[in-house]
Amino acid sequence: MSKVHNFSAGPSILAPEVIEASMEGIRNFAGTGLSVLEVSHRGKEFVAVVEETQATIKELMNVPDGYEILFLGGGASTQFLMVAYNLLETKGAYLKTGVWAANAAKEAKHLGNVEVVASSEDKNYSYIPKGYTIPADADYFHCTSNNTIYGTQMKSFPDSPVTMVCDMSSDILSRQVDVSKFGLIYAGAQKNMGPAGVTVVIVRKDILGKVSRAIPSMMNYQVHIDKETMFNTPPVFPIFSMLQNLKWVKKCGGVDEMQRRAAARAEMLYAEIDSNPLFKGNVEVEDRSQMNVCFVLNDESLEEKFNAAWKAAGISGIKGHRSAGGYRASMYNALPLESVEALVNVMRTFNN
Ligand SMILES: *Cc1c(COP(=O)(O)O)cnc(C)c1O
Repeated sequence: MSKVHNFSAGPSILAPEVIEASMEGIRNFAGTGLSVLEVSHRGKEFVAVVEETQATIKELMNVPDGYEILFLGGGASTQFLMVAYNLLETKGAYLKTGVWAANAAKEAKHLGNVEVVASSEDKNYSYIPKGYTIPADADYFHCTSNNTIYGTQMKSFPDSPVTMVCDMSSDILSRQVDVSKFGLIYAGAQKNMGPAGVTVVIVRKDILGKVSRAIPSMMNYQVHIDKETMFNTPPVFPIFSMLQNLKWVKKCGGVDEMQRRAAARAEMLYAEIDSNPLFKGNVEVEDRSQMNVCFVLNDESLEEKFNAAWKAAGISGIKGHRSAGGYRASMYNALPLESVEALVNVMRTFNN
């Protein structure tokens, strides 16, 4: 099989050695002679995996004391609701920067008032709103660090007067963030952390226990914290595989190195988009994502020719999201620079 350049938006590329280590765990987990697929989550070997995964996230992201790390099911989409269950008393404030952000606000409405503090929907989410005011009477402010579908990214975070909650599903571990600015961070693993099936929640304990509603157990962060993220059977294999990826990130040089690689990939592809008259980027230059690069052909009649050329070059997964169209190259942590080179090469030569 020749090399495939995997630009999939999620689930997405993992380093070959992460896949290898995951397979080894399926064959023989921690020397037990059993597969990680067939052991108790309460056995000492798997409890050690959970603890090491938490410790490695803490180390890679410099998580301060006072935070808990949970591994939950249900994807980032369940967090849209769970955040509101646990934090919304009178009002949640939302920054509407895309479909995921809008979905987060929509789910919160099941539980109370939602105020959209700013939105970029007027221009098909092609920029990040700036200069908005976060209401001081909100229970929390929710934002989305990277808009996977539209290719915009928050380059900085506001100084929020209220607890800041962030959906970091598609750029976690690709950039340094000051965790202490956030009360809660969540991320579906399948973009930058591991395979699909586990959602990472990093929550500061002191923001919990302040709402008056009764919270169903599975929706209650405190219940999961009290049970050391094993209130119910956790996603055992996705956690195991995520740990292999976290170890890989650490071995490569940590988040600093991931950030350097992300910048190098993005610089290369945006430079081509900006200098090649056949293409144009979709979003405001200052808000461009380093993870998901969205672009279009200026002449749509070249589409078939371009599609044939990138497919022939072994490139996979650059068709844009159904709600954005065009092309989207997702360039997560494990994507080698040579894959970006391969794409740039096709963009340069396909119409010669
Ligand atoms: C993919 C994605 C989601 C949805 O994640 P699920 O795990 O499928 O629920 C939410 N937010 C962002 C920013 C995403 O990229």
